[in-house]
Amino acid sequence: MPSCPQCGNLVTADALKCPHCGTVLKAYGHQGIPLYQAKGASYLCDRCLYHEDDSCNFPQRPYAKTCTLYSDRASLEEDIVPPLTGTKAFQSWFRNNRGLLLLLGVILMSVLLVFLR
Ligand code: SF4
Ligand SMILES: [Zn+2]
Repeated sequence: MPSCPQCGNLVTADALKCPHCGTVLKAYGHQGIPLYQAKGASYLCDRCLYHEDDSCNFPQRPYAKTCTLYSDRASLEEDIVPPLTGTKAFQSWFRNNRGLLLLLGVILMSVLLVFLR
């Protein structure tokens, strides 16, 4: 169950407003559109991916206290998987190309059989 960004009390996931402090949690009165809220004196844009890549053209940028499109750049950083290196990279490549390697093996055996006759 999510908590209210202002007062911290638990609220239901589909609540339009916090029943404790009245903070609006959904935009346009629609349960499917979350309205992200900045905490305290901070601004959402400071931690937003669209501010960082300069793709946001909302007029409230860079001082948005509420926003429907906010995307936490920290969550993206968690999703980035470091590239495989060394033995693991080779094992992964081998696994992904085993069909091609099998075909090359069959061709090589055929060529060897022709020349060894
Ligand atoms: S999407 Fe919202 S939070 Fe993100 S930069 Fe634009 S105005 Fe700021
Ligand atoms: Zn609240």
